[in-house]
Amino acid sequence: AAKAAGKSAYRTCTAELREAAVTRAELIDDLRRAVDERQLHLEFQPIVDLASGEVRSAEALVRWRHPRLGLLPPARFLPLAEETGLIVPIDRWVIHEACRAAATWRDRAPDATVAVNIAAAHLRRPDLIATVSEATAGAGLAPRALTLELTESALIEGSDTVLERLRQLRELGIHIAIDDFGTGYSSLSYLHHIPATELKIDRSFVARLGADARAYATVEMVTQLAGAFDLSVIAEGVETEGQHAAVTAIGCVHGQGWRYGRPTGLADLRAALLPAAPA
Ligand code: C2E
Ligand code: MG
Ligand code: MG
Ligand code: MG
Repeated sequence: AAKAAGKSAYRTCTAELREAAVTRAELIDDLRRAVDERQLHLEFQPIVDLASGEVRSAEALVRWRHPRLGLLPPARFLPLAEETGLIVPIDRWVIHEACRAAATWRDRAPDATVAVNIAAAHLRRPDLIATVSEATAGAGLAPRALTLELTESALIEGSDTVLERLRQLRELGIHIAIDDFGTGYSSLSYLHHIPATELKIDRSFVARLGADARAYATVEMVTQLAGAFDLSVIAEGVETEGQHAAVTAIGCVHGQGWRYGRPTGLADLRAALLPAAPA
């Protein structure tokens, strides 16, 4: 009986492996066509001013409507995209699409910005600057209406050329946010060199705010640090009233999370950007 069980377990296991392998290869093939065949789209998640509740900007988040598998979140395909280099055309498409979207809400909120996530591989490319300039100019958008979100790990790989590229982007007026701040292994000294304008406190700290004094202290410390470096600070993943009260009390300026709005379509975001009715 043990032998039979072992055998069938073995068969199941190899079948799954084979299926996983095929799926992976197929998925890469499908992903290669996804941009051209217009299967990607963006959702926009509001970023609010904690004091007034007003939506000040939105983060563009990519989704893939796969012809057979349905709607896939970035976690399902971005790792593959990064391994294969397909991330560069995908991110390029995202930048263009996000700028076009932001151009449609300028009438409602002239100062609102749009944030896009940039993969490490893209940051290493000299043509990132041209991509960003073309996308903003093509959409008729001021460069200061665009924020590039970079993770700490993308930034620590940062050679002098990458730093120089970031400085050039800043000179154009582009904003630079450090995403998922606190989850990387970088030393704080890199903050002195990176011309960032915003810190986004990772959701994992915000999630533990009520339960863990160390998480609270971390959010406090990062907020103070941001203040000292003259960076704007955004608390990510604010889901509850308690978390909202805590990040507000700590002094974070901006918040993002389900408490304020889930990632949504362009029409909904435009509606959320409606200027507050005069009192
Ligand atoms: P991220 O940049 O940290 O984006 C925030 C993620 O947290 C999003 O997940 C968002 O839906 C989720 N989120 C926001 N508020 C809450 C909340 O209150 N609770 C919880 N539990 N989650 C919340 P999403 O859209 O699945 O994206 C995951 C990651 O994929 C992003 O993390 C970003 O690193 C990456 N990504 C998304 N779009 C792009 C893209 O166009 N290009 C690149 N290179 N990466 C992208
Ligand atoms: Mg992000
Ligand atoms: Mg983040
Ligand atoms: Mg995150």
